[in-house]
Amino acid sequence: MQDQFGRTIEYLRLSVTDRCNLRCRYCMPEEGVAELSHGEVLRYEEMLRVVAAACRLGVRKVRVTGGEPLVRRGIVSFISQLAALPEKPEVTLTTNGLLLAEQAEALKAAGLTRVNISLDTLRPERFRELTRRDGLDQVLAGIAAAEKAGMLPVKLNVIPLADFNADEIADFARLTMEHPWDIRFIEFMPISADLDYASRDGLSMGDTEAQLRRLGELEALPHQDTSGPAQMYRLSGAKGRIGLIPSVSGHFCGDCNRLRVMADGRVRGCLFDNAETDLKTVLRDGSDDRALEQLLLAAACAKPEKHLINDNDFTTPSRRMHGIGG
Ligand code: SAM
Repeated sequence: MQDQFGRTIEYLRLSVTDRCNLRCRYCMPEEGVAELSHGEVLRYEEMLRVVAAACRLGVRKVRVTGGEPLVRRGIVSFISQLAALPEKPEVTLTTNGLLLAEQAEALKAAGLTRVNISLDTLRPERFRELTRRDGLDQVLAGIAAAEKAGMLPVKLNVIPLADFNADEIADFARLTMEHPWDIRFIEFMPISADLDYASRDGLSMGDTEAQLRRLGELEALPHQDTSGPAQMYRLSGAKGRIGLIPSVSGHFCGDCNRLRVMADGRVRGCLFDNAETDLKTVLRDGSDDRALEQLLLAAACAKPEKHLINDNDFTTPSRRMHGIGG
């Protein structure tokens, strides 16, 4: 699958639900959001048809996300179906980790190769403040379970926020001395308008990097396919690695290889672009797989050349991160 700018599309992010068991202040309002009804959300067999079509067109990696993917019933068996597709795509998952401890072994056995776990603080009271829920111990148990199950390297995604967790950057980075984990600092994105945090609250990547450099020598590592857009580093003597992902200020669009399918069956070519293609209609009106493939090709073709976040007339996307899948 190629887009009009010559980029090859081989990575699909699949949001299996817009529901979440946390209420992170920068992602969801306290009262939650109007959830999609069951009829609006694609059934697993519909999602499988979409992924199968995408794999026939060249997708090699599928990341299951949400909302919180582990709250959707039947997720383990769905992941085993994804992993068993004829093209044997690599299947990975992004989770807040709350339900991971109890499912890690089964997910690994189902064919999940790796997990990214989102965690912005190592302090229980801050976890409660940010997510409006308890559960840091459960997340830490989930990380340990993923490691024990062999989903390596375990990756932790951290969003540095100037007035919230900036003083924990060193604590997160020091985890790599003892653990073979990837700790990835990701720039806050302007996608959460009207919530408790705005983009100005995100710590700049430069400030994050400056804090990391105070910890000691930071060796830049060569880029690997599994690093995605992250620039990876290692503190001297560390078992794990540190990643910096300037999703907003960096210029990754030229290498973008993604399509995003959302739980309601719409596809986005860019996280920050509101243009979407509907797949649900052809999934439900008796059309054959050829029609589905044509729509996926059209969605790939319509990918914008680059995001416009830094332009003056950029308007906040119509969906927040929990609805798109990050
Ligand atoms: N529930 C799963 C999780 O927690 O990883 C998957 C979905 S969640 C929406 C995916 C990621 O988006 C999380 O790491 C979350 O921190 C991140 N996120 C949400 N809003 C964001 C924003 N405005 N900027 C950057 N990342 C954001």
